[in-house]
Amino acid sequence: MNAKNYFQKIILVYGERCYRDRDSLFRDIDRIIQERGAESQEYKPEKEKMEGEKMEGTKLYANKDADLSNLDGKTIAVIGYGNQGRSQALNLRDTIGDKKLNTSVIIGNREDENKERAKKDGFEVYAISEACEKADIMLILIPDEVIPGVYNEDIEPHLKKGNVIDFASGYCITCKLIEPPKGVDVIMVAPRMGGKEVRELYKSGEGFPNLFAVGQDASGEAREITLALSSTIGLGKSQSSIAIEVTFEQETLSDLLSEQFLSPLILVAIMVKYEIDVENGIPPEAALMELYLSGEWAEIFKRMAEMGIFKQLPLHSQTSQYGQLTRANELMKRDIGLSYEQIKAYGREKAEEIKNGTFAREWTLEKLGGYIVLKKMYEQNENCPIIKEEQKLLRRLGR
Ligand code: NDP
Repeated sequence: MNAKNYFQKIILVYGERCYRDRDSLFRDIDRIIQERGAESQEYKPEKEKMEGEKMEGTKLYANKDADLSNLDGKTIAVIGYGNQGRSQALNLRDTIGDKKLNTSVIIGNREDENKERAKKDGFEVYAISEACEKADIMLILIPDEVIPGVYNEDIEPHLKKGNVIDFASGYCITCKLIEPPKGVDVIMVAPRMGGKEVRELYKSGEGFPNLFAVGQDASGEAREITLALSSTIGLGKSQSSIAIEVTFEQETLSDLLSEQFLSPLILVAIMVKYEIDVENGIPPEAALMELYLSGEWAEIFKRMAEMGIFKQLPLHSQTSQYGQLTRANELMKRDIGLSYEQIKAYGREKAEEIKNGTFAREWTLEKLGGYIVLKKMYEQNENCPIIKEEQKLLRRLGR
């Protein structure tokens, strides 16, 4: 039975309750089916779960892939004792102790309170140049924008053939802000986690994911050293705690695009939504609670990470599912422009649809029709590349 016939059958049963005039009812249904892109879709039952699907794709590395003896006999200098620096240094020292490795961890930091903190934490602490002089492996954990200056002044003059220089972000190498000499390994272990969580998830034993890269393999062992570091810093027993190999360039692009494209869109949408709520007389406190202060969105993002962006939707009300999916579909097709005013105009239009009953009417018809558009939206999204990959990865991670 196609979508329209299905609608019509349902309407014969329920239609009269909502509409006196059957013609206008059918006209509305036609329009909505067309607008929402569900026309002539056969309703199909849920696809069978793919049993025994072959798990192909990028290799995911875990602790078992790392040989920690690659760090044996080495001195590791953690340069910078801030967010990442403190957590990575403590994790390194704890793993080295647990595994009884013959590896030492020292800290290089400017004269200030972080230096004092590192001393209190029981580390040997030196000026950055002195720590680099003593080290075989250097973890450069200072802010990206200050790395070039510190590198030129305090790090490069002390680099020796065979040294390893590790970054937690691809930025300075990708953007050629520094160019280490040929004889050293240049690697990256970039935790996908803030400094605080890097320590907490290590202590709980769960661990966290990271992206790793080898930019220059002078020793021929750079990859093994990178994996050993990745494991020592924070791969844990959780199935999600895996390392994925990328290039410096890929990490930089993906990271900056999250910060400069995704996050701004979310921030602007939040600001615009707030303004539209308030101009509609909603108390600012209620608007803010609905937006993010309640923590509901934090929970939704957690569920996205556990189940997938669309697979978590059934945990929302049906009204919410329909609203989210149809309006997301509409956004993909319509040119709404990107200026703040245009985004705001689009937000206002959606507010108007809610206020003037357009959405309620549409949603009532959708229910009468047996949720055909909603099912179509789910089918459409199930087949988009991000969802296929996301579900594959979630299965590999055992979620
Ligand atoms: P922080 O801002 O926490 O780094 C602070 C450290 O850098 C302190 O030790 C500070 O020394 C030192 N520092 C700052 N300015 C200077 C300077 N001019 N000269 C010498 N030392 C200086 O950095 P993060 O831990 O946030 O970032 C470190 C690296 O980790 C970056 O490459 C970042 O991209 C990456 N990263 C960060 C993540 C995060 O969540 N924060 C996540 C993943 C990767 P002082 O004590 O003197 O202030």
